[in-house]
Amino acid sequence: MRDTIVKNSIQFYEDKVVEKLRFGDLFVDRLVESEGPSFYPAYLLPEAEDKAVAKEKGWLAPCFIDLESGRLIMSVHTYVIQTSRHVVLVDTCVGNDKNRASTPQWHQQKTPWLNQLKSMGIARQQVDFVLCTHLHVDHVGWNTQLVDDRWVPTFPNAEYLFHKIEYDTWKETGDSMAVTGKGGNDGCFVDSVLPVMESGQALLVDGDHQIDENLWLESTPGHTPGHVSLHLQAGGRTAVFCGDLMHHPLQCAYPLWNSRFCADSALARLTRHRFLDDYAETGTVILAAHFAFPTAGRIVNDGSQFCFQTIRGQNMI
Ligand SMILES: [Zn+2]
Repeated sequence: MRDTIVKNSIQFYEDKVVEKLRFGDLFVDRLVESEGPSFYPAYLLPEAEDKAVAKEKGWLAPCFIDLESGRLIMSVHTYVIQTSRHVVLVDTCVGNDKNRASTPQWHQQKTPWLNQLKSMGIARQQVDFVLCTHLHVDHVGWNTQLVDDRWVPTFPNAEYLFHKIEYDTWKETGDSMAVTGKGGNDGCFVDSVLPVMESGQALLVDGDHQIDENLWLESTPGHTPGHVSLHLQAGGRTAVFCGDLMHHPLQCAYPLWNSRFCADSALARLTRHRFLDDYAETGTVILAAHFAFPTAGRIVNDGSQFCFQTIRGQNMI
C-alpha cells in the first residue's frame, strides 16, 4: 500500500464546501478528512484490466479518475446526519495523532476534521450516535481523541454502534496485534475501539438494528465479516450508506472486482452484486465511504451494465 500512494496528492480540506442533501426533515452532510488521486486501479482492484478501465473513463473523469496520472480519485469522509432529534455520524475516518506504522500517510495525522464538524454547527457533545460500518482503520479513527496521553471517546454523549460479529472478529485480531505490534489493522482496535467499549458507550448490535423510525441497518458482509450498511428513509426518499461495499464507482460497472482489502472474496462479490441488483433504477441515493466529490449518486442499468450517476445536493432539495 505504502509505495502506491502519492502522499502529497492527498488534499486536506480546510474550507471544503460540503454538499448538503435533504430528505424531508433530515439533512446529510459530508465531512471530508482527505480526498484526491490515490491508488492505481490495478492496485486497489487487483482484477481490474487496463482495457476495461479505459472503456469507463468517459464517465469516471474528471471526478473519479485522474486522467493525467491514471490514479483513482478517492475520499475519506464521514457522513453527518441531522434529524429533528438526533445527530448521527457514519464512519469516523482515520483520526488525529494515531500511530499507523503500515500506512505512513495516516501516521500521526493532523487534520481539521473536528474543527470542521464544529463549523458545521455541531459540538462534540451533541452527537447522539456514531455508526462504524466496519472496524477498518479508516472508519474508526475519530471515535477517540488523545487527552492527557489517553485515548478517550471524542463524543461524550454518543452511543457508538458496532456490529457484534465485527467487534468479535477484531477483538481477536486486535488483541494479538497489540501484543505482536504487527501491521494488519494498524492497531486501531486498541486506540479507537477498545476505549469506547471500556467507557461503556459502545452498543454491540445485530445487522438489522434500528436507530429510529428513519434509520436502520442492513447486514452487508464480505468486505469484512460484520460489515453493515445504513438505510435512511424520510420525505419519500431513500438513501443507503454502504461503507466499503464498493470502494470506487468503477465497481458498479464491474461488481465482481473486489478491492484488495476485502476479507471474503466470494461473499464480497455476492453482496455487491445483490446490492446493485436491488438498488438499480430505484432512485435510492447511494452514499459510499470513499467515493470522491460529488459522492452522492444513483445506480442505473443501461441494459448491459450498471453505472453510477452522480447527483448534486441542490437536486435533492
Ligand atoms: Zn475504507
